[in-house]
Amino acid sequence: MESIPLHNACDPAFARQVEQESGQSLAACYQCGNCTAGCPAGFVYDMQANQIIRGVQLGLKERVLSSQSLWYCLSCSTCSQRCPNNIAVAEVMESLRHMARREGHISAAPINAFWLSFLATVRRFGRSYELGVMALYKLRSGRLFGDLDIAYPALSRGKLGFLPHVVEGHGEVGRIFERYKARCDKEGVKP
Ligand code: SF4
Ligand code: SF4
Repeated sequence: MESIPLHNACDPAFARQVEQESGQSLAACYQCGNCTAGCPAGFVYDMQANQIIRGVQLGLKERVLSSQSLWYCLSCSTCSQRCPNNIAVAEVMESLRHMARREGHISAAPINAFWLSFLATVRRFGRSYELGVMALYKLRSGRLFGDLDIAYPALSRGKLGFLPHVVEGHGEVGRIFERYKARCDKEGVKP
């Protein structure tokens, strides 16, 4: 496990901002490590979940926002369930991902490309359209010929539909995205 470099420049407003955006009280964290112990993605993290929380407490904004862990997080909420202080760590990770995107700290660009591609199909059809996600992801990431070996088996077993399934009321879903963008524009932040 990597140690946190305490000599990095600290931003005292960072912890307050993360608490505000995530709705969590991070001062309650006493570093028991329960969140990290149950995290299924921890083996690929450069900062473990408890280290992320500690980094926020210490105001290590640059270090935390540039962590690849934010992008490898599966949003499974195991960490939140295991916290004895009821800190929703998964919510904190989500808020940090948004902050990292806004501030240009996307340290795992392919994952961000996948995330944006997934959301684009949800916005358009009201739910995920796997083939569309794949096509958009390849365009965004430039990985045009990656994973082709798994595409044929998935198609031949009917796991990937050629046409999108458009849900009833999908326009309502699209309007949620529009309201979110309008709010970001109003607050002067990147969506
Ligand atoms: S939500 Fe993210 S940080 Fe929490 S346990 Fe799941 S993968 Fe780990
Ligand atoms: S489980 Fe909760 S109290 Fe323990 S280290 Fe994680 S966030 Fe902190």
